[in-house]
Formats: sequence, C-alpha cells, structure tokens
Amino acid sequence: MALSNLKTKYMTRNDCYTAGRKITPKGIMVHSTATPGVMAADWFSRWNKSYKAGEINRQVCVHAFLDDKEIWRYLPWNHRGWHAGGDANNTHIGFEICEPGGFSYSGGSNMVGYDVKKHEAYFRKAWQNAVNLCVSLCREYGLSEKDIISHAEGNKKGIASKHSDVGHWFPKHGENMDTFRAAVKQVLATTDEKIQSFQVGDVVAIKSSASKYYPGGPTIPGWVKELHHKVTQTDFNNKPVLHAGKVCVLLGKRVDKKTKQESAGIMTWVNEDELVLVDRIRDDIEEDTQPKKYYRVQVGAFSNRENAENLMKELTKAGFKCYVKYE
Ligand SMILES: [Zn+2]
Repeated sequence: MALSNLKTKYMTRNDCYTAGRKITPKGIMVHSTATPGVMAADWFSRWNKSYKAGEINRQVCVHAFLDDKEIWRYLPWNHRGWHAGGDANNTHIGFEICEPGGFSYSGGSNMVGYDVKKHEAYFRKAWQNAVNLCVSLCREYGLSEKDIISHAEGNKKGIASKHSDVGHWFPKHGENMDTFRAAVKQVLATTDEKIQSFQVGDVVAIKSSASKYYPGGPTIPGWVKELHHKVTQTDFNNKPVLHAGKVCVLLGKRVDKKTKQESAGIMTWVNEDELVLVDRIRDDIEEDTQPKKYYRVQVGAFSNRENAENLMKELTKAGFKCYVKYE
C-alpha cells in the first residue's frame, strides 16, 4: 500500500531541521493539532521558521501533518523531531492529525461547539490517513501497532509533556488509541500484496527469527545474521524477484556495523519479510528550494573519446561520480 497522498517538503528553516540530529525510529506518536480548521499544507508556512532568529515563539517541529486529504512530511522520518516535549523525541516519529474547523477550545482541551455528526466524514478520512501512515511506517521500520502511542499515553509513560491529544478528540467519534492500534494491526495483517519496501542502498539486518533466505531456500548461517548488509539490487529485467512467492532483494555488500565500511557481500536474494531496515541513506529526494552549487574538478582533456571514457571507467571504479563532457 503506497501512500499516494504523501507529500514531502522539509522545514529547512526550522531550528529542529538545522539541528540535524538523527534517530532510529522505535515508535510512532500520534498528536492532534488543537487548532481548528488549519489543514496539513498550511502548517508549512506557520512552522518553517527559526526560533533562534525570533521568527516563531516555540521550538517545535513534527515529522508530518495530515488531514482528510493529504499527508505532508516536513522532516525526514529518521530526523529527531521536537513534538513530544520529552524523551520520546529520541525514539518516536511524531505526526499531527489536523482538526476540522467550526468549533473552539476552552480550558485547554475542551472542544466547544464540536459537531460530531458534521465532522464524522472528515474524521473518518483523517483517521484512515493516520492508519495508512502508521502501517507504512511500521513496515519501513519493522514496528508493530504496539509501538504506536498518543501524546497523552506518552505523558503517562513519562516520555512526553502533559498534553491530552488525542484522547480529547477520538472518543467523540467512538474511537480511542486501542481501536486505532487495532485498525493498524488489521491492515498490517491482511495486506498481502506488499509493495516493495526496500531500495537499492538501504542498509538492512536479517531478523533474528529468520531461518531460510526465502521459503524453501537455503538456511541462513548464524554469522550472516550478525552482519549488516547493503541492498544492491531489487529487480531483474525491471521485474521484482520472487522466490516462493516472496519479494526478494539482493544483499550484495556487507557493511561494518561500527565503521560503516563496505566489503564483499553474501550476494544472495533474501525475502524482504526477513529483513529490517537499519539505515536509508538516500532517504528522500529533498525538495529543497535552494539551488545547489557545486565545484567540479576536471581530471583530463583528451582529443580521443575512447581515452576519455577509459579514464572515466577507472574513476567510476575508484568510487568517483564522473561524466565526460565534449566541448
Ligand atoms: Zn501533542
């Protein structure tokens, strides 16, 4: 299940983004905005600001906002967010569900004039978007519905500040965090037509529970499970590679856990279900608005094209990105 309505635009002006700290996501925290009628896309201009520069009066940033239509990602998923007001920032991806307009707040979290009937359709669509996002993140980071908590639940666990979201809102529509987790669990369990979730360049580990590379395939030796591997190929002739009906990816390199140095890999196609993501370097294509300038280095000028191409091959082998320019 691809998130067709996921849009990415990073809040590069926000101090949280520029702080640049990374996390290994261990859970997901669900928030709601308590700001009636401000939809997901609207938050970009509100929060893409620097606290240090005095442009915004709060040090805050979440990974995403969603409403009844769209999901807007404003931080890379593995970037440390400022959403929990506690230790959950070090472990949890945080997203905000936008609340519909037409009511107000009193006394912190009392929704005044909230028309349940009128807002039911909005709520269901936003709820579904939240479920879909959680399913996708669970797949990407090897999490389950049990790893999903609300801001209020985080506070009870002592890892988030004292807020009541989303417990002040979900019950109006007959839902709560348990029914939310159940909805995520159901999708995780029933969606068999899995999309390919790993990309070339991903660093992965083999689950400790795995025994065969794929159903009916060779047994995985213990030492292979100790390693980190890099995915070097995900298809063959532009088609997914299936073994016993399971989508497999090629683990073509091994990656040292400490030094991140790469060396010759096990060169085996492995069932995606047996893998967990450790690191995704090319996480996202940044939709950064600022054009980047590069300094390019010319290593030679040749009158003969073949000589130029031979040097390019050498450089490529040595790990440089290069190209031949004819002028
Ligand atoms: Zn919150």
